[in-house]
Amino acid sequence: MTQKQRNRNRSKRRAIYCPTHRIYLDSVSQKYPLYTTQAEHLQQRGMGRRLALTVVAGLGTVPLTGEWLEAFWCGDCQQTQWYHVRKLAANQYTLSIAPSELWQQASGVILPTGNPTVGEFTRRQARQTTFAGAKDFYRIG
Ligand SMILES: [Zn+2]
Repeated sequence: MTQKQRNRNRSKRRAIYCPTHRIYLDSVSQKYPLYTTQAEHLQQRGMGRRLALTVVAGLGTVPLTGEWLEAFWCGDCQQTQWYHVRKLAANQYTLSIAPSELWQQASGVILPTGNPTVGEFTRRQARQTTFAGAKDFYRIG
């Protein structure tokens, strides 16, 4: 089967492509929403400084709406890769490679579900501390 045929059979898929091969990627994980505790990260995403500071002060942990980590399989890469996905508009996404090391390194960015390699105990703790205040802001399509 050619690549074109393969893509046509899956018309309802999200428009998420391999950055290298420009073909549809197969999701092989759930979405892991991203959170931040730093006003700076909100400013980088277009929020005014004052509002960003207020939101962080009020919530402590703020969801980065429309951003998440997700693992995809590319048939041409022949490997699974973790990507930092950003939803730009309806069915429009940008991908950047997110090595698992980044999850620990990125200061202030919290992954409530935890790195899959992290133990269940840690994961549960992270979820408890982050979901409480953030619920109202949490909408990722
Ligand atoms: Zn690829």
